[in-house]
Amino acid sequence: MTRRYYLRTYGCQMNEHDSERIAGLLQADGMQRASNEDDADVVVLNTCCIRENADNKLYGRLQRLKGWKDERDGRQIVVAGCLAQKDRDLVRQRAGHVDVVLGTHNVHRTAELIAGSERAGPITEILESAVAEDHVLFPSALPAVRETSYNAWVTIQIGCDNRCAFCIVPAVRGPEISRPFADIVAEVERLAADGVTEVTLLGQNVNSYGRDLQRAARHAGATDARLRPLFADLLTAVGVVSGIRRVRYTSPHPKDMRPDTFAAMAASATVCEHLHYPMQSGSNRILAAMHRGYSAERYLARLAEARRAVADLAVTTDIIVGFPGETDDDFERTLDVAAAAEFDDAYTFIFSPRDGTEAATMAAEFVDPAVTRERFDRLRIVIERSALAHHEARIGRTEEVLVEGPSKRDPAVLSARTRQNKLVHFDAAGGAGAAGRPHIVRAGSYALVEITGAAPHFLRARFVELTAAPTHKVRIPVREAVLTAS
Ligand code: SF4
Repeated sequence: MTRRYYLRTYGCQMNEHDSERIAGLLQADGMQRASNEDDADVVVLNTCCIRENADNKLYGRLQRLKGWKDERDGRQIVVAGCLAQKDRDLVRQRAGHVDVVLGTHNVHRTAELIAGSERAGPITEILESAVAEDHVLFPSALPAVRETSYNAWVTIQIGCDNRCAFCIVPAVRGPEISRPFADIVAEVERLAADGVTEVTLLGQNVNSYGRDLQRAARHAGATDARLRPLFADLLTAVGVVSGIRRVRYTSPHPKDMRPDTFAAMAASATVCEHLHYPMQSGSNRILAAMHRGYSAERYLARLAEARRAVADLAVTTDIIVGFPGETDDDFERTLDVAAAAEFDDAYTFIFSPRDGTEAATMAAEFVDPAVTRERFDRLRIVIERSALAHHEARIGRTEEVLVEGPSKRDPAVLSARTRQNKLVHFDAAGGAGAAGRPHIVRAGSYALVEITGAAPHFLRARFVELTAAPTHKVRIPVREAVLTAS
């Protein structure tokens, strides 16, 4: 009988992308996806250790899954991802009923490990570093089951060479490794042939793409000064792939931002006018303690350069409130810089220590939670003020949006994204089409809408016309791995 799996993902886009690959591998192995745990034989939890309380949530869930496993013979529990990489044997010490524990460097082995534990009992397999072959190193090079068929993530780099004091990523994902330039472009070409029209280039530090390739080439004796395949070159190359209408990327690091990236964005008709530009703090003292490698002044200067280069650029950011040692003065600087930056939106986080990071050892300087909460609320007001101003300025404009499908709250309303990545809601009836029939505005369509209203986190709009119907041929494509020699 066909076995069924249920996959639950926690955390960032990198984890979601890994989950697409886990699903692809399991389906290539003959399993089917279950819509809930009750229908499943295997539950896979792809974990994240960046979010607050991730450990408690995972171990709480594993305790509840013990009863699920006991209900039927043959059921298996798999724990994958960053928390598994960090906790290793601790996972089974705290939850002895888990069958497979695998880390961030051996996603490609998921199906084999499940089969192995079915035969021989529990397995913990955590690799210290990424394996060498490209087709298993990068999640994009494995079979995939994507949630949507019109857009896709493309991993261009894994790992991170930085040491931000609050971040566990370098410990669980290892050093930066860039994927070969030609492989990335070839994957985007294949995606476009499948009907994908929007790609997001993904990396922990996406704009330092190629640094390691350049080092390797130098060690191999190459002397050409411009060996490094720059991120800007990659944007340009991906942007001209036939069929691709939108290119996005996340996340860049401000210290590595170069003018040629802005120039490539400005010159490309497909690279979207959206920059996610993580600020983290507006205090130079705190930025130094975080080891971020830039000052507030440099951050704002680069941002001004980006806005000069790229017309109608939307800018979003990440900010941590209450980093150890943050004083009232430090926080006032963050408010000042956030106000000056006039962000379109921000992911704001209250600092919480992550085991294994430098910041977790700074307990003597932790900020009182009541103070942090109050700062957090004040920061949200500043962010929402600039976001609303940006959104109100768009009222009356006609913009092209990529339709994502019915809104979560009201199926009569469609949700879509502008090139600036702004969420837009409009009436699902979609106006009148040929012979007075309503347009069918399916997910993956492009449409023109007129912006009619604004709120801090979304826009309201009126449908104008369909500009492109989806071109994908299948709802959920599954593709065999394509192996490319590097
Ligand atoms: S740049 Fe800093 S925050 Fe980003 S992944 Fe690397 S260490 Fe973490």
